[in-house]
Amino acid sequence: MKRLLRLGKLFVAVAASAVLAFQAGAPASADDVRARSAPPVDFQLPFTCGQQWRLDTWAHAPALDMVREPDQVGTEGAVLVAAADGVVNMSFSHANAGNVIQINHGNGYFTTHLHLQSRSVAVGTAVKQGQTIGRVGKTGPTSNGHPHLHFELGYDANGNGEASWGTSTSERVRPWFDGVEYGQSNGRTWRNVARDCGGTPPTSCSGVNLDFSAYATIRSGSSGDLVRAAQCRLKDSGNDPGAPDGAFGPNVQSATRAFQTDVGLSVDGVIGAKTWTALLSYGSTPTLQSGSSGADVSRLQRALTAALGSTVGIDGSFGPETGQAVRTYQSSRALGVDGIVGPATWGALQDGR
Ligand SMILES: [Zn+2]
Repeated sequence: MKRLLRLGKLFVAVAASAVLAFQAGAPASADDVRARSAPPVDFQLPFTCGQQWRLDTWAHAPALDMVREPDQVGTEGAVLVAAADGVVNMSFSHANAGNVIQINHGNGYFTTHLHLQSRSVAVGTAVKQGQTIGRVGKTGPTSNGHPHLHFELGYDANGNGEASWGTSTSERVRPWFDGVEYGQSNGRTWRNVARDCGGTPPTSCSGVNLDFSAYATIRSGSSGDLVRAAQCRLKDSGNDPGAPDGAFGPNVQSATRAFQTDVGLSVDGVIGAKTWTALLSYGSTPTLQSGSSGADVSRLQRALTAALGSTVGIDGSFGPETGQAVRTYQSSRALGVDGIVGPATWGALQDGR
């Protein structure tokens, strides 16, 4: 499966470079250098409940290319749904982008979908969030024949009633799905993103203890509960090490190497402090601060325990101890010290810093 995945990345990279060629020479969009707050529209990932998708910016942030997890199988022909309520503003076949649908969601926000296999809504149609609007495909030469959804969130900055799309100078902004921001910079990947359809998000870690007072280095030959925790987090990150049996064998080692490659760590197949930090923090990047609570806070507390090499209580509640740990981490990693876990702090953790 890993081999398939690597091969798949290559193909998407080729597809992305074709899109790039279509945009060559244009300057970076203002959105690349400006953080935006969440839009007033509650967008969801535009796919069917229960599916997981890989999101990449490649070289066209904040636009996203989306393929099905774990190996892209099922991308072509996948049902595309409206990310939020709106009215269809465009539904046509474009010479470069293939079948295009753009939806006007109000408040100046538009979603634009390229390379569709088919379109099932006409201009002027009112759509509800989650309603089918078409199917994912590979139409238009800029898809390079590789099935994927090219997705843009647009904001009508010049107030002309439209949001331009398709190039780095268009009015595209960072997409948000289920309250999480994506598309911050080029070369970013988000794995196993699912539409929040209620209920518990899929995880490989149910029944596996992830909470430890220290995350010791584990390597080939290690065994026990720490190995089991690493196995389920590797699987969550899209690098399946096989059954969570608590034994650090060849499959765990190769999954670790693949994960280290993904996040840009030195590739040694050993799970030390840096790899633990990246592995334990892996996932979405919601802003967390004093008073926050839930599974994302627990994930932060585990990552801080690994990064700092000292115990941070893992209780899912962002209190004074967590706040102090965040400040210590930010200070030691030359980040802005504000005790708030935003994109920069999550990014550092997920890079294994
Ligand atoms: Zn694209």
